[in-house]
Amino acid sequence: MASLSSPPSNSTCVQSGRIRVLKERSRASDGAVGPVVYWMFRDQRIRDNWALIHAIDQGNKANAPVAVAFNLFDQFLGAKARQIGFMLRGLKQLQGDLEETLQIPFLLFQGEAEKTIPDFLRECGASLLVTDFSPLREIQRCKEEICKRVSDLVTIHEVDAHNIVPTWVASEKLEYSAKTIRGKINKRLPEYLIDFPTLQPPSRKWTRATLSTDWDGLIANILRKGAEVPEVEWCEPGEKAAMEVLVGSKNGFLTKRLKGYSADRNNPLKPRGLSCLSPYLHFGQISAQRCALEARRVRKVCPQAVDTFLEELIVRRELADNFCFYQHHYDSLKGAWEWARKTLMDHASDKREHIYTREQLEKAQTADPLWNASQLEMVYHGKMHGFMRMYWAKKILEWTTAPEEALEISIYLNDKYEIDGRDPNGYVGCMWSICGVHDQGWKERPVFGKIRYMNYAGCKRKFDVDGYIAYTKRLVGETKKRKAESLQSQKVKELRS
Ligand SMILES: Cc1cc2nc3c(=O)[nH]c(=O)nc-3n(C[C@H](O)[C@H](O)[C@H](O)COP(=O)(O)OP(=O)(O)OC[C@H]3O[C@@H](n4cnc5c(N)ncnc54)[C@H](O)[C@@H]3O)c2cc1C
Repeated sequence: MASLSSPPSNSTCVQSGRIRVLKERSRASDGAVGPVVYWMFRDQRIRDNWALIHAIDQGNKANAPVAVAFNLFDQFLGAKARQIGFMLRGLKQLQGDLEETLQIPFLLFQGEAEKTIPDFLRECGASLLVTDFSPLREIQRCKEEICKRVSDLVTIHEVDAHNIVPTWVASEKLEYSAKTIRGKINKRLPEYLIDFPTLQPPSRKWTRATLSTDWDGLIANILRKGAEVPEVEWCEPGEKAAMEVLVGSKNGFLTKRLKGYSADRNNPLKPRGLSCLSPYLHFGQISAQRCALEARRVRKVCPQAVDTFLEELIVRRELADNFCFYQHHYDSLKGAWEWARKTLMDHASDKREHIYTREQLEKAQTADPLWNASQLEMVYHGKMHGFMRMYWAKKILEWTTAPEEALEISIYLNDKYEIDGRDPNGYVGCMWSICGVHDQGWKERPVFGKIRYMNYAGCKRKFDVDGYIAYTKRLVGETKKRKAESLQSQKVKELRS
């Protein structure tokens, strides 16, 4: 679909390597050049957004106005109130800021983007569509369809605004592990890990009428529909909140918590030992490039913590995009390496000590209190600690009838409850745990074969398991109490009105 050989004809301040031409207009317009539309999907921010920078830049070059369009899918990989609420609250802020600071309109559409985006392009007579990049199948497929449906007067550019080194620049193929991609990414960092230009409003203003969005009504409706997995309170949405988590003076990761990152990041009892940036990175409310630039600035203070953080933020995260981009079967056993598939199949009929159904797992009804605690942390808190995610997924392999089933259940639960779910990191996390992706073979054992094994005793040696179980119990209790209080105050309000 995409071409790398024909970079955009006009030079731009965004590196050409960051841009793929998905479709070149085949006919020049008889009249004036039409507007530039940025279809925002994955990078939901104004600041540090290469796709928005490119859209404004191209608009200025053609003396054309710019608009940002967002499509709210009717259903997207099972997202519930927790994820959509966080996203919409972030977008509500974004709309205000975009219109106020850059005088760019933000249009929210609902339905299937394959239809809403081409319809809008037609309606406003756009000449250029800019999109950001996601390696997920659904989005790639949607873009292919949009390419077919837009008129031959429209060009489409895809900008990788999510990765520091664009996925297709970092590597042209599926990488085997962090070891094989690390050098390739590091080699490109001097070129791509650069500061962002300051954005100015486009030189030509958007003059067409735009429909306003009833954000409060929309959010209330989404919360009602997705109430099964409610929002979480600890994670404030939006770009400003994201920057506060990164460099805030109160409890910012780089300003206040960095020291603990090397020592505490594998201790589930210290959730703030991690950066807690994943919800913001997932929804693009913060740019990974901004996180890396800020982290490098404080490297002198804690070199080891910064190096470890950058390894996760850049190498591991971009490796996940590499996997999903080049491996179509990124969420199935078919996507595992041959050795892993074979060993899992060799052990598929091994006797399991316990077998649990998806429902039992979802309700945290296993015989392992540590596993139950991690499941409850995810269900009630919306973010399971990173160390526990590995143990959690590996146990699902141990307790289900087949690896395919284990993978399906882990992805289902991860996507349903994690605030950062439905992300390449999630698919790769489950594939790493269950199918050995980006890992090596280990000593062969029942059920797991050569897939790396983790057990309760190992966790006990690493951290205070009972403390973690007690901590999640408290979390669940507090969440339930808050929910009961909010229901109560809702009832009082209804009675008064
Ligand atoms: C089974 C399983 C499921 C997972 N599901 C998700 C998911 O749905 N969404 C998600 O973003 N991450 C997922 N991860 C990866 C990782 O656990 C989380 O990114 C991390 O715990 C998020 O917390 P943090 O931002 O505070 O972490 P930090 O350690 O502070 O990391 C900073 C950032 O680096 C990246 N990162 C960290 N660890 C990894 C990793 N192992 N692989 C890729 N990138 C990484 C993330 O973008 C993260 O936000 C999963 C891992 C496993 C094993």
